[in-house]
Amino acid sequence: MKKLLEVKNLSVHYKIQAGWVYAVDGVNLEVNHGETLGLVGESGCGKTTTGYGVTQLLPSNAYIKEESKIIFEGKDLVKLGTHPSKKYEGYRKIEEYNPEMRKYRWAKISMIFQGAMNAFNPVYKVGDQIIEAILAHENMTKQEALKRVEELYRLVGIPKDRINNYPHEYSGGMKQRAMIAMALALNPDLIIADEPTTALDVVTQDRILGEMVRLQKREKIAMILITHDVSVVAEMAHKIAVMYAGNLVEKGTAKEVFKETAHPYTEALLNAFPSIKGEKKRLKAIPGSPPDLANPPKGCRFAPRCPYAKDICLEQEPPVVEISPGHYSKCHFAEELYGELGGE
Ligand code: SF4
Repeated sequence: MKKLLEVKNLSVHYKIQAGWVYAVDGVNLEVNHGETLGLVGESGCGKTTTGYGVTQLLPSNAYIKEESKIIFEGKDLVKLGTHPSKKYEGYRKIEEYNPEMRKYRWAKISMIFQGAMNAFNPVYKVGDQIIEAILAHENMTKQEALKRVEELYRLVGIPKDRINNYPHEYSGGMKQRAMIAMALALNPDLIIADEPTTALDVVTQDRILGEMVRLQKREKIAMILITHDVSVVAEMAHKIAVMYAGNLVEKGTAKEVFKETAHPYTEALLNAFPSIKGEKKRLKAIPGSPPDLANPPKGCRFAPRCPYAKDICLEQEPPVVEISPGHYSKCHFAEELYGELGGE
């Protein structure tokens, strides 16, 4: 499959009064055309910053490290959307209204934002908000944009007479579908979906995820699916990247990550989630809590919670090891533990 997006050594840090928060450090990812990459991990592990970092939709105190690269269709979006910071050496500052980046946002890379319930402006009709997004990028009349919205509503299964409703007149599932319609409005090549079904009940969640897969296949769109819910990525993703405390700790195909687990954190994550189809098991919470990213541990960031930690883990940052072609683990003992780990 042809590469659509390559994220190389991406580091995004937030400047706060007390210093820096190292939210994302040295992340490497690839997404091919039409493929789904699941980005999983606990809340606060840097998944959303990584996803939003691709389109550089980040708060004004976010800075990207100089060496980071986000190659999309052969162009480096970091070079395109940022400039060297005058204040902080080694960092690049995001240019919020960069006209070059605007050509990519929504038109080529669209987003399904976290919490679709609140993503629409409550005082504008939903249809008008989608029309506005289309007209901001496409040279078409309002009437033509309305036709496109009708088409999109048919695709996502909302009756077209609901186009003129306000967000509060939609159910949670309908708002989520409308958000998906908006993400599809300009035929993007990549959708970044941030916890797209978290606020929905499981039945609606299942239906919406099914529709997303159907639409993605039909429109041949690639997707980065950001979620803390391992069961969602297990069903949908071709490849999985597991994040912990700003680091990418394991990456591989869904089968490799779930069945041939090569990182203790992935094992802990799998043991903390129930399996509906598999055998009954007692869930195990991951002891402790993630580190403070303003002051991350010196060696492996998972060491204080890892049952396999040894002295070296507390002192030295682990290397990224390629266990098998395309299957990576950031652990000092990846090779020794490979084959021993896995959800119980
Ligand atoms: Fe655990 Fe050490 Fe591997 Fe970190 S490097 S995950 S602490 S075994």
